[in-house]
Amino acid sequence: MIQLSKNAMFHVHTYRCKHATGTDREYIERAIELGADEIWFTDHAPYPGDKIGKRMLYADLPEYVETMKALKKEYAREIDLKIGLEMEYLPSYDSYIKSVRRSGDFDVLMLGEHFYERADGSVYFAKEELGDDIMNERFGMCEGMVAGIKTGCFDVVAHPDRIFRNCRNWTPEMAELSQRIIDAVRGTDIYLEQNYSSTIKKDHYWTEFWDMVPKDVHVLKGLDAHKVEALMKLDFEFKATH
Ligand SMILES: [Zn+2]
Ligand SMILES: [Zn+2]
Repeated sequence: MIQLSKNAMFHVHTYRCKHATGTDREYIERAIELGADEIWFTDHAPYPGDKIGKRMLYADLPEYVETMKALKKEYAREIDLKIGLEMEYLPSYDSYIKSVRRSGDFDVLMLGEHFYERADGSVYFAKEELGDDIMNERFGMCEGMVAGIKTGCFDVVAHPDRIFRNCRNWTPEMAELSQRIIDAVRGTDIYLEQNYSSTIKKDHYWTEFWDMVPKDVHVLKGLDAHKVEALMKLDFEFKATH
């Protein structure tokens, strides 16, 4: 089970995923400046073949690990740098995901189900693709997330409530899907992540979800920083924007 310090900065991306800015050093130095004693890098994992956009290139993965290991050593006196990845669970990549876990290179693997794989192998991620079938897609996201949790490869589930992005009002169906996610992590060492960046987006963070989470489920707070300025102390209660 991973352990976060009280002054940890958790869930930080790098430029490698192609939708984050700043150098690795800029993030580290800013975190130190803000009084953090840990920085947890969890950039978006690549997939062999690079068919999924806005992700690190598969060829860049060894460089990411080596650079992070070198920076960890270099900054060891000032901050504890943790090396991680955020990845979707896509059944086609099951053995790849398991090999990433087995590599031993990562302090944390986070399940970030931004899209899921349909039975026909296609992946959903565009808002425009939703059409009228929003709950069907939510169901698919939930199934993908639960399957990912059950692999035992992940330490944290990033923004579990984000599968309801763009839903307007809380419904019994949403509660039912939420319960499945909560049941999947209950009794395990896996954390659910309250995601700060979701709170500043409309309909991405659902207090209704968090109200359902029992006390014996592990919860942590993450930044989801894609720029250096997004680093901050998360010592406050999150609120939803609907
Ligand atoms: Zn991202
Ligand atoms: Zn993220």
